[in-house]
Amino acid sequence: TSALNDIAASIRTIPDYPKPGVQFRDITTLLGNARAFRRTIDELVQPWAGAKIDQVAGIEARGFIIGGAVAHQLSAGFVPIRKKGKLPYDTVSMSYALEYGTDEMEMHVDAVGKGDRVILVDDLIATGGTAEGAVKLLRQRGAIVEAACFIIDLPELGGAAKLRALDVPVRTLVTFE
Ligand code: IMP
Repeated sequence: TSALNDIAASIRTIPDYPKPGVQFRDITTLLGNARAFRRTIDELVQPWAGAKIDQVAGIEARGFIIGGAVAHQLSAGFVPIRKKGKLPYDTVSMSYALEYGTDEMEMHVDAVGKGDRVILVDDLIATGGTAEGAVKLLRQRGAIVEAACFIIDLPELGGAAKLRALDVPVRTLVTFE
């Protein structure tokens, strides 16, 4: 649709950032474009319009921006999933795969309740390691991960397929090879 073309056209690509050979997809140009930002949120939430979603979980840091807007649109709460050591109250943590090695993400222990219906949000899915860690963290606390939503999919890296193999429906708006 033309809405998705407008969204794709609003994303800036930075060659060789943060290192040579990487094409960084920069969504700050999308966020700064009022029409593209609204369309992105409208498109992301469209399958859940009127659904009962308890919480939207956003992955630090760009997932906070998108997730906050999605939560508002769905009249849901917002849950931050952060890098280790950033959250002030008691946390649960999960290690996840990076390109080289692993890292840890955390969530407040009382952020989701057993049986809560949660939508996970981030800007981009590549290998899926980050999102997989977040799904495990949410499920460890008894939440039902209704879906995972991303503006951008890099399908060659297999992340969306990895999440679907974990029985998580995946919604993405724009694909880059
Ligand atoms: P994954 O764990 O390999 O799926 O990587 C996804 C994570 O890396 C997300 O939190 C993204 O925000 C971030 N990321 C990876 N590549 C890009 C990019 O080109 N633009 C913006 N974020 C990226």
